[in-house]
Amino acid sequence: MTALFGTVLSDGREIERCRVVFDGGRIAGVEPATSARVGDIGVDGWIAPGLIDLHIHGAGGVDLTCDDPATAVASVARALARRGITSFCPTVSSAAPEIYATAIAAYAPKAHDGGAESLGANLEGPFIDPARRGFQDPAVIRRATAEEVTRWIDAGPPAIVTLAPEVPGGMDAVVALVAAGTVVSLGHSAASAEQARAAIGAGARHGTHLFNAMPGLHHREPGVVGALLTSDATVEVIADGIHLDPTVVDLVVRAAGPDRVCLVTDALAAMGQAPGKTRLGDREVISDGRAVRHADGTLAGTAVSLDECLRNARRWLPWLGPAQVLKMATSTPASVLGARVAGRKGRIAPGYDADAILLDRDWRVVRTYVRGVAIS
Ligand SMILES: [Zn+2]
Repeated sequence: MTALFGTVLSDGREIERCRVVFDGGRIAGVEPATSARVGDIGVDGWIAPGLIDLHIHGAGGVDLTCDDPATAVASVARALARRGITSFCPTVSSAAPEIYATAIAAYAPKAHDGGAESLGANLEGPFIDPARRGFQDPAVIRRATAEEVTRWIDAGPPAIVTLAPEVPGGMDAVVALVAAGTVVSLGHSAASAEQARAAIGAGARHGTHLFNAMPGLHHREPGVVGALLTSDATVEVIADGIHLDPTVVDLVVRAAGPDRVCLVTDALAAMGQAPGKTRLGDREVISDGRAVRHADGTLAGTAVSLDECLRNARRWLPWLGPAQVLKMATSTPASVLGARVAGRKGRIAPGYDADAILLDRDWRVVRTYVRGVAIS
């Protein structure tokens, strides 16, 4: 049994002088206490739920789309736990059809020794608008078919699928995936607001890295951004300081509130690696430790981890209390996954998994617990 004593940040609240007791991988108790008991671990800073990254493509030099999924996921899981991420959705970019069944099975919900827990595959593509593909491979972007969606559902189903509802077969895919319990996320799309609202009406309820790989918010053409922000859908923001201006992150959080905004990294294999040459799929790219760029200087993605995005959000949103900021990397992403993690992830509360981080005064992660086991 492990007991921590300190200030708890969870559920949008800050509770001082609290004992958190772990037993058998679960949180057995969260109780006010006047002082620590003998044997308790005193925390100078905060005790917070483990971070949840719904959208991440790799870490530590390993790529979840191109490397062998069976070994890639455990390796990424370990790299993430060292940064305070205790659960994640391994994310696959658009790829050839044959990769999906293997990846969906390998990325199914599973604990990984010494690492973060996988919460199920996140498929970012291949049913997306080629004109909004970002750095995805155009050769494998394709129309949505019932056969392919059925194969995914039979193999999983995946936790999250990003698609553009306006592509041929897109709306039928929304309906089939929602019926299978998959979270459908709108992204890599130039859908009109009307098309996006139709998809939301059919059960899509998440937005992939809002503003990135979609048209901006135009006052006469509100598009995907406008439809998502004026719905009840949750949305992702990449708060790495590269993909979005802090003012836009502020705008999104003011519009949707911390219960509807998830911080995600969308990070590449370069996350957790020293700056230098790294890979994006089978192409060589260069990381400066934050931004990853092609040899010609164009942006390929980020190497920033979720704990850094969280610190950015805290700095950029001084009007929002710290416990509310923290929600966007804990309870809000857990809520997106619904029944998959309900009662288990995203809170420091009795009965929940003992996934926790200890934060110092600057919100640096000084220790991570995954199911009660300390990761250095
Ligand atoms: Zn992505």
